[in-house]
Amino acid sequence: MSLAWDITKDGLDEFSEFLTKVSPQKLKMTVDVLTKRIELEALVNNLQERIEMIEGRQVLLKQTREELKKHKKNIEENKNFFITVTESYKKQVTIDGKWTKKAVCCTVCEENCHYPGCTIAKTPSWCEVMKNGYCTTCTGRCPVSNHVRENWRYVQEKREITKTHDDLKKKYEDNLRAAGNKADLMTCLQIELNNAVSDKSKLVEESYQCVIQLEQIALKGNSLSTYVHLDFLVERLKEKEEMEKAMRLERMQNCARKEQPNGMDYIRTTLGFIWPMKH
Ligand SMILES: [Zn+2]
Ligand SMILES: [Zn+2]
Ligand SMILES: [Zn+2]
Repeated sequence: MSLAWDITKDGLDEFSEFLTKVSPQKLKMTVDVLTKRIELEALVNNLQERIEMIEGRQVLLKQTREELKKHKKNIEENKNFFITVTESYKKQVTIDGKWTKKAVCCTVCEENCHYPGCTIAKTPSWCEVMKNGYCTTCTGRCPVSNHVRENWRYVQEKREITKTHDDLKKKYEDNLRAAGNKADLMTCLQIELNNAVSDKSKLVEESYQCVIQLEQIALKGNSLSTYVHLDFLVERLKEKEEMEKAMRLERMQNCARKEQPNGMDYIRTTLGFIWPMKH
């Protein structure tokens, strides 16, 4: 319950005033809107992490390509050799923080499905991102049973790894065979890089659509989320040369900066203690 004591007196006054004015139907609607908002925020954060993973994969592929160029002669002579590249991987780290001590994670997708901001649920099934027994966030849209709510989350880390020419040939064995004798490792890497670009592009678009939906909810009286950081997305949209979309988000961001945090943020926190969000 410590969270409840952190709410300021002004916040509580604002909240009490809200409760005296609002009808039960309106309150139910507010809860629905807030739940939707939490769901979208969680998805935007998850998508950002998935995009970062793809960017890690792109770095690895580009480095591998550069390294292979250096070994052109060895490749022609089909000799084995070593290369060192940077790989991104996921690691579990303990969460320490006052407000968001826990995360709902999918152990099958190895993704954070609700982090930060999972303050209310006691178990994954109570988390706002779960709908009809399935997660609305992770890549696999997995059942609740694949999830845990613990005091750790996944983070992306980098490590140096050494690979041999034989490792690479083995990795791309099927692709090489499928493409016939014209194919080489460079072609395989290029195909994988192209796939990464299109995967990333889809996720950036999905994030953008989420933020637009969040904005529409914000127009109904919520300020734009404190959990969603638009800079990341603005940068990725510019990379894709989607200038109009990037500008729309920048305008949104400027408006959000001018706004003060309003009563809704207190209500959202407090509701969790007095009002079951679901069921
Ligand atoms: Zn999953
Ligand atoms: Zn949650
Ligand atoms: Zn999930």
